[in-house]
Amino acid sequence: MIELSAPRAITVDAAARTIRCGGGRTWAEVDAAGQQAGLAVPGGTVSDTGVGGLTLGGGVGWLTARHGLTVDNLLSAELVTADGVRRHASADEHPDLFWALRGGGGNFGVVTRFEFRAHPVGPIVQLGLFFWPIEQGIEALRFIRDTVMALPPAMGAMITGLNAPPAPFVPPELQLTPGYALVVAGFEGPEQHADVVAGVRSGLPAAFELVSPIPYVELQKLIDPGSPRGMLAYEKALYVDALSDEVLDVIAEYQPQKSAPLSITPMLPLRDAYTAVSDDTTAFGGTRTPKFAVNIATIAPDPELYATERDWVRRFWTALAPHASSTGGHVNFMADYDEDRVRAAYGAAKFERLARIKAEYDPGNVFRPGANIRPAVDV
Ligand SMILES: Cc1cc2nc3c(=O)[nH]c(=O)nc-3n(C[C@H](O)[C@H](O)[C@H](O)COP(=O)(O)OP(=O)(O)OC[C@H]3O[C@@H](n4cnc5c(N)ncnc54)[C@H](O)[C@@H]3O)c2cc1C
Repeated sequence: MIELSAPRAITVDAAARTIRCGGGRTWAEVDAAGQQAGLAVPGGTVSDTGVGGLTLGGGVGWLTARHGLTVDNLLSAELVTADGVRRHASADEHPDLFWALRGGGGNFGVVTRFEFRAHPVGPIVQLGLFFWPIEQGIEALRFIRDTVMALPPAMGAMITGLNAPPAPFVPPELQLTPGYALVVAGFEGPEQHADVVAGVRSGLPAAFELVSPIPYVELQKLIDPGSPRGMLAYEKALYVDALSDEVLDVIAEYQPQKSAPLSITPMLPLRDAYTAVSDDTTAFGGTRTPKFAVNIATIAPDPELYATERDWVRRFWTALAPHASSTGGHVNFMADYDEDRVRAAYGAAKFERLARIKAEYDPGNVFRPGANIRPAVDV
């Protein structure tokens, strides 16, 4: 256990559009600091996740279509490697290590400082959240899929199987009932977003909606209440090239079978800026063709419900697997870390390159948390 909570300053350079922060900071802290200068680094979708783990695994969030993964915006990292040496990794210094840090997880050392490229975002962005009851199953899923496929470039989107939150904007009779949600996040101003909202309203009216301008920092906290602390959690992810009718049939069959109110199936489109980076630029496991990351996740309050729901996650994932372009999924959305799964997440070539870099910087496998990459033995 390495203590990283001691605050190191978050430094925003508004002119250079960079943000530097310590390895133990959260996205809520980085978002708040960046917005003081109207800037943001593409992070995740839950604000109290750490910058460290999310970045090192890749990092998918609302800004992925506009500015790529978190690792696509990493400019440099300062880290302490297994030999106790403080190193600086960037495109020019230890470029192999820098490549590995951009997706290879916490395998290569303790990152004490990240430096990111930041982008003008907000401070006000446009939110559209729409919910359809589970009974509208395949009809709702096809409509949501078609809407997402027609979104303007760079708009953030998430399709989710979930229970409606007990929030003031949800009619009382629908609170905690299961269904499908579409969330669209617009960063280019109200007009473009209004067109998308109008299309949803006229295409398949939702049971309820929340459409509003919203501060960027609040968008980043939108789904925080869905992941309370102290719960038992399990998840399994994969990639599909498209939400084909066959994929949607599987989702419509399995999503209604969940039991825990907080179990959730987010499906994140990876497109636009995500595809502007070549496969080999970073160690991130997913190829850079357009696709959806499908993450089946349970959050349960007690061991009994957890066991039932973990079984649901596994059955759902197994049913989707034949339709997957990669069953490896994003390491950030992985709970079972056996070597076959980790290798599948990266693909053989990247996994082997990571293992060679691991052998150079951590031959004793000191850093072996989570998705461990063991050092290659032939180095
Ligand atoms: C509620 C929730 C929502 C999430 N949403 C998203 C999302 O939208 N997008 C996304 O991409 N991922 C998401 N994730 C996954 C998340 O990115 C991973 O769980 C990630 O590992 C969390 O990192 P952490 O630093 O918060 O956690 P920790 O438990 O602190 O760290 C996890 C691991 O990361 C490594 N690590 C962390 N910090 C450092 C460091 N400074 N140096 C070296 N290694 C380090 C270590 O190996 C550590 O064991 C979510 C997770 C949760 C729980």
